[in-house]
Amino acid sequence: MKDSLNQNFISIYNKEAQNNYFSPGRVNLIGEHIDYNGGLVMPCAITFGTYLLTAPNNDGVLRFRSVNFEESLEIPLQPSYQKDGEGWYNYPLGVFEHFLKDGHQIQGLDMLFYGDIPIGSGLSSSASIEVVTAFALNDLLKAGYSKLELVKIAKAVENHFIGVNCGIMDQFAVAFGEKDKALMLNCDTLDYQAVDSNLGTHLLAIINTNKPRKLAESKYNERVEECAAALAALQQKLDISNLCDIDAATYAGHEYLITDPIVKNRAKHVIEENDRVKLAAIALAGNDLAEFGRLMYGSHDSLRDLYEVSGKELDAIVEYSKTNTNVAGARMTGAGFGGCAIALVEETAFEDFSRELIKYYTDKIGYAPSVYSSLIGPGVGILS
Ligand code: ADP
Ligand code: MG
Repeated sequence: MKDSLNQNFISIYNKEAQNNYFSPGRVNLIGEHIDYNGGLVMPCAITFGTYLLTAPNNDGVLRFRSVNFEESLEIPLQPSYQKDGEGWYNYPLGVFEHFLKDGHQIQGLDMLFYGDIPIGSGLSSSASIEVVTAFALNDLLKAGYSKLELVKIAKAVENHFIGVNCGIMDQFAVAFGEKDKALMLNCDTLDYQAVDSNLGTHLLAIINTNKPRKLAESKYNERVEECAAALAALQQKLDISNLCDIDAATYAGHEYLITDPIVKNRAKHVIEENDRVKLAAIALAGNDLAEFGRLMYGSHDSLRDLYEVSGKELDAIVEYSKTNTNVAGARMTGAGFGGCAIALVEETAFEDFSRELIKYYTDKIGYAPSVYSSLIGPGVGILS
């Protein structure tokens, strides 16, 4: 990959790239819709992501080129930058703006970006391009930020420069990811534990529904409100500040405090999902993929029935997976309604899985999903 990208770099800039970086995308293995309830998420970095090749220039400009968008842009060095329309280059440009605002001197730089990750499908190509740019600038300018500071810069760029109200999980996962480890993370405290996650003979299948995610934002806000209502009801008797401060047994004893049956379902999902994450960490660390797979199915069923954020496309993927004995488990991942599902599939059976799933899904939904095989890979770094 690096060689062919370097050839590309030479053909665009007439010189060799001097520094090469890679940042992965991520999936959340389990722990869905609980980060805003003080719960634990469990993302991992995947082996797809964003490459960035750079070389300095003496022309007083920043040159951005994306292989994916087949577009180049030249922007003069300025004391500060603002978001410019909806162009893709705003993501790296926002990182430059952040470094400038912090008082760092920027020099002319030629850049080539390439993502082998599906863009706009919920695998966080946005966090990947932000983090790879922040990591590269930190290295090139010897700016001295810690990895956690880079994560916070990348999140701030997405929140304030791009204007997307995301949490910190994505940037955290792509920066701190480790090969064969999942990150059990509390998004409020940023306490985390790298959990051994050897997938053995399994691959991590990532299945893109290829459905546009239209509903996700309004439904997301609705769920946040429902969880707040559940918390307020439980606080009548319980001294808690988040739904995930209690476990399923405690919830069962206090569920009567919530009157709205829908709000009850939302709280039940959140609290049980948080328990599932803890069990998942034990299962993964103990190489018990069968148990981890059962927890994945349990998570999906709960997101479908109690939290109501799945949809016929994501459900079709999980339904098919349940019929295939070479699949240990499967679930929707991310906010839901569209985007991607993941499945743990025996490596030797992956081709059959992919072919049969595409047929099942296409018959049911009317168009094909995209199926990728990944492993749990390392986080952002210098490309050797
Ligand atoms: P997701 O993070 O789910 O992939 P987003 O809509 O949050 O989707 O982010 C996608 C945007 O990130 C793209 O539209 C583009 O602006 C930017 N981006 C990501 N990867 C690349 C890339 N390789 N080249 C250029 N822009 C990219
Ligand atoms: Mg994104």
